Amino acid sequence: MPLRAKVATSVSKTAAALSRAAGRGDGSVIGGWIGLKIDPDLLAHLAGGRAIALISGTNGKTTTTRLATAALEVMGRVATNSFGANMPTGHTSALAKAGSTPFAVLEVDEHYLARVIDATEPRVVAMLNLSRDQLDRAKEVSMMAQMWRDALIGHPDVRVVANADDPMVVWAAQGSGHVTWFSAGQRWHDDSWVCPQSGDPIERAGGDWWCTGCPLRRPNPQWRVEDEGVVDPRGDWHLVKLQLPGTVNLGNAATALAVAAEFGVRPIEALPRLATVASVAGRYAQVDRDGRNVRLLLAKNPASWLEAFDMAERAPTLLSINARDPDGLDTSWLYDVDFAPLRDRPVLITGDRAYDLAVRLEVNAVPFRHVKSFEEAIQAVPPGRLEVIANYTAFQDIRAELDRVL
Ligand SMILES: [Zn+2]
Repeated sequence: MPLRAKVATSVSKTAAALSRAAGRGDGSVIGGWIGLKIDPDLLAHLAGGRAIALISGTNGKTTTTRLATAALEVMGRVATNSFGANMPTGHTSALAKAGSTPFAVLEVDEHYLARVIDATEPRVVAMLNLSRDQLDRAKEVSMMAQMWRDALIGHPDVRVVANADDPMVVWAAQGSGHVTWFSAGQRWHDDSWVCPQSGDPIERAGGDWWCTGCPLRRPNPQWRVEDEGVVDPRGDWHLVKLQLPGTVNLGNAATALAVAAEFGVRPIEALPRLATVASVAGRYAQVDRDGRNVRLLLAKNPASWLEAFDMAERAPTLLSINARDPDGLDTSWLYDVDFAPLRDRPVLITGDRAYDLAVRLEVNAVPFRHVKSFEEAIQAVPPGRLEVIANYTAFQDIRAELDRVL
C-alpha cells in the first residue's frame, strides 16, 4: 500500500479504538470517516489483494453477510462489517481493522453499491431484493434497479448471484454477463407489478412470474430452497440446519451457499458453519426472563414485516415502533402491511409511535393492548414464548432494556 494509505489505515484503527474506549459504539463509522479524509482512495487500497463478496438488497443483507462469512471461513480469515455499518466508511473501517485477510464479505447499503463495486473490484456481488424502505429518503425501487444495472454494465468481470424471484433484481442483474440465479422466494410483490423494462404488467402463478409485454421473465434458478434444505446446481439436495428461524433464513442460507460456491466452497463444507450462527447483531437472539422466552425480530419496512410474521411463532407478540432518524420519520408504511396474520394471538404494542400502530391495528381488526414499557409487556403475558417485532431504534431500546436487567 502507498504510505498515505498506511498512515490512513493506522489512524482509522486508532480512531475506532478510541471511540470504542469512550463507549460510543463500535467506532467503525468514525474510524472509516477519518481514514477516508486522509486517503480518499483508502477503501480501494485496503480492498487490493483480497477476494471480496458484496451483499446488497433492501432486506436480509446483514443476515446473509453473516452466513456467507461463516461459509467462507472454511478457507481462512474473512474480513466483514458485522455490525451493520454498511456504507463506505464502515467498509473502510472493517478492512482496516481486519488487517490482511485473503477474503472479505461486505454488507452494502443498496444506494452505495455502485460506488463500492468501483472501489473494491469484488469477485462476487449478491443481489437479494428491492422493495420500498424509508419513504422519506430512500430512492424509488425502479431507480435503484436502474442504478444497480448501470453499476454492473461497467464491471463485466464481476460475477453476480441474484434472486430469480424478484423481477426488479432480475432486470438489474441483466447488466452482467455472469449471473448465478437463486430462488429465495418473494413474499412482498407490491413493488414489482410493473415491468422495469417495458412498463407492462407482470403476472404471477405459483412461484413463476413473467412480463406480459416483453421477454423479461423468471430465469431458472441454479440454487433453490426445497423442504428443509437447498438444491445445488448439480441437483443435489442438502439438509440445512439453522438456528435462525423461518423459511426466510433458509433462503438467506441458499444465497450464502451460492456466494460461497463462487469461491470454490462446497455446500457440504459450508453447512456446518451456517449451523453455528445463533444470532446476527442481536437479531433472533433469545433471552429468558421471568419464565418468558423472549425472541427479538427486527422489521423495518413492509417486506420485512411480512418476513417477521413468517418467522414468528403463534405466541404472544409485542410490536414496537419508533420513528426516529434511523427508522425514517414517515410511518405511513404501516398501511402497506397486512397485520391480519396476528389476529390469532395476543398482541401488545409499545414504542414512541405506538398510537400510529394502534390506529393501523384497529383498521385491520387486530385486537391489541398498549403497554408503556418492555417490563410491562413481560408481566402481561403468561410464561412461555414472547415474540418481539420492532423497527431499528425500538429494537435497540429493547435490547438496551434487556441488557440493563441481565
Ligand atoms: Zn416487460
